[in-house]
Amino acid sequence: MKPMERMQGVDEETVAQWRRDFPILEERVYDAPLVYLDNGATTQKPRAVIEAERAYYEHDNANVHRGVHLLSQRATDAYEAARARIACFLNAARQEEIVYVRGTTEAINLVAQSFVRPLAKPGDEILVTAMEHHSNIVPWQMVCEQTGAVLKVVPIDESGALDVEAFERMLGERTRMAAITHVSNALGTINPIRRLVAAAHARGVPVVVDGAQAIAHVPVDVQALDCDFYAFSGHKIYGPTGIGVLYAKAERLEAMPPWQGGGDMIRTVTFEKTQYNAIPWKFEAGTPNIAGAVGLAAALDYVSGIGIEAIGAHEADLLAYATQAIQHIPQVRLIGTAPDKAGILSFVFGDVHAHDVGTIVDRCGVAVRAGHHCAMPVMQRYGVPATVRASFALYNTRGDVDALVQALTRVREVFGA
Ligand code: PLP
Repeated sequence: MKPMERMQGVDEETVAQWRRDFPILEERVYDAPLVYLDNGATTQKPRAVIEAERAYYEHDNANVHRGVHLLSQRATDAYEAARARIACFLNAARQEEIVYVRGTTEAINLVAQSFVRPLAKPGDEILVTAMEHHSNIVPWQMVCEQTGAVLKVVPIDESGALDVEAFERMLGERTRMAAITHVSNALGTINPIRRLVAAAHARGVPVVVDGAQAIAHVPVDVQALDCDFYAFSGHKIYGPTGIGVLYAKAERLEAMPPWQGGGDMIRTVTFEKTQYNAIPWKFEAGTPNIAGAVGLAAALDYVSGIGIEAIGAHEADLLAYATQAIQHIPQVRLIGTAPDKAGILSFVFGDVHAHDVGTIVDRCGVAVRAGHHCAMPVMQRYGVPATVRASFALYNTRGDVDALVQALTRVREVFGA
């Protein structure tokens, strides 16, 4: 489903109401109102999330799964209720399929080390796409170094769309894993995950989806997608940093060895032998980010209260508006023009380095990302060292886009471009 087809955009008063939920949007930078367009890097936090964490620390704080005292029970209840909330948000079949991690990066490393590494033999293959974030490349390169497996890269076309037929052709007898981003952070491309999973499963290949850039923008139903693993970070969906999720089908988790040892992931320990805990705790060694889990659950409540479809429709409207506005600037070359895109606008500005563009734009109060976006192979694919990236969230407005366009005229003045 293309973002534009989901729903009509949202009226200005509704967006103004949403904005009031985010205290940081009242900040001024360089004496200008903050225009925050770096949501792909991290999103701002609504009061509901800030309050949930504060309330947890003020009333419930204790360690989980360890104490008989009341506070420990309250902390454990909050932590496990957050897991149930996440399972519901993703439509997971069971809450045991939700493993807490630090974020997407840790989730993918867990799958690489605990699921693929024990299976992979020299000459086996791991498929990734040409649009992956380093988090979905480097963990696989490490597994390749450790096992002798080989990394295969599915190409993208000039618009940034995945070559789905090449993906299908590249799935083979020796493919041990297909690791695919749901939405590209550097290009905005939305991949047809359901189709890719079906093709992979038809050849017996498991799929891990990097959902870092999708989770806050498109509906995610892991049972409908049928993926084996789905990873995301709390901070990209209005939640805290340092907390993230690995969803995995229960049978996959059952079959996987733990990847870190320590407290909480065990049933019994003697010096002769340790019996591991049940899933998902088998993968959660040590004291977890309890307040982070509580904050993430509050973020998911917040997003569900608005509705991910409404958010997606609003961001699609902003993307269409921004794409049109920015294309009128002759120096701008868009990088990433796939037909199905989330609210990410990546571009280069003549010969001006992206860092210079980002710095000048920042002085006008507009926060954008400038760099390789942890996707250096994407930059190499387009022959550019870096891009400027504006990425939208539910609180952005057409006025924010106008401020970006206005700030880009300042770049023209400074560089005479
Ligand atoms: N994957 C994608 C597509 C991303 O955009 C990011 C972060 O920008 C990550 C993975 C890594 O997320 P984190 O740093 O939260 O682990």
